[in-house]
Amino acid sequence: QQSFEFSIEKSIRDVATLCDPIARRHQVTLVTDFDTEGEIVRLPEGELKQVLFNLIRNAIQASQPQQSVKLSLEAEPDKVRILVSDAGCGIGEASLNHIFEPFFTTKSELKEGMGLGLSVSRNFVEGMNGSLTVQSRVGHGSTFAVTLPRRIETA
Ligand code: ADP
Ligand code: MG
Repeated sequence: QQSFEFSIEKSIRDVATLCDPIARRHQVTLVTDFDTEGEIVRLPEGELKQVLFNLIRNAIQASQPQQSVKLSLEAEPDKVRILVSDAGCGIGEASLNHIFEPFFTTKSELKEGMGLGLSVSRNFVEGMNGSLTVQSRVGHGSTFAVTLPRRIETA
C-alpha cells in the first residue's frame, strides 16, 4: 500500500467514529487524549486504520459496560506512538505469549473471533518499520502501543 501524507489525529478520530456503533453496543465510551496536535505523517494510511480498528475493537470487547477505552497520541522527534488502553479483563500470562500468533483467539467463533486481528496488525506495523507491543495486567486492563516512524516510503 502506498504512503500518503495525512494528519494522524484525524486518522485516529476517523477510526474512533467507525468504532462508535461497536462501543455503543457494549456501553463503552471512547475517549481521546492527544499530547500533540497537527502531526502530519507519511505512512500507508489504510493499513494503519485497519490496525487501529482491530486494537480498538479488541479493547471494547474486553471492557465492561460503563468503562472507557482511551486513545492517546504521543509525539517524539522521529516517531509517533498511538496507545489503545482499556480497563477490561486483561490478558493472562499463558495467553500473552500467543496473542500475536495467527488464529489464536479466546473468543467464540460466532462472536467474531477469528484470531487474526493482532497477527495481521503486527505484520502491517512491522511493514512500516514500527512496533506493536502490549502491557497487560489481569483484572486491570491492557495497553497496546503502536510506535511508528513519521514517514516511510513505499512502492
Ligand atoms: P480475535 O479478536 O479475533 O480473538 P486478535 O488477534 O485480535 O483475535 O486477538 C487475539 C486474542 O488476544 C483475543 O482473543 C484475546 O484473548 C486477546 N486480546 C486482544 N486484545 C485484548 C484486550 N484489549 N484485552 C484482553 N484480551 C485481548
Ligand atoms: Mg480482534
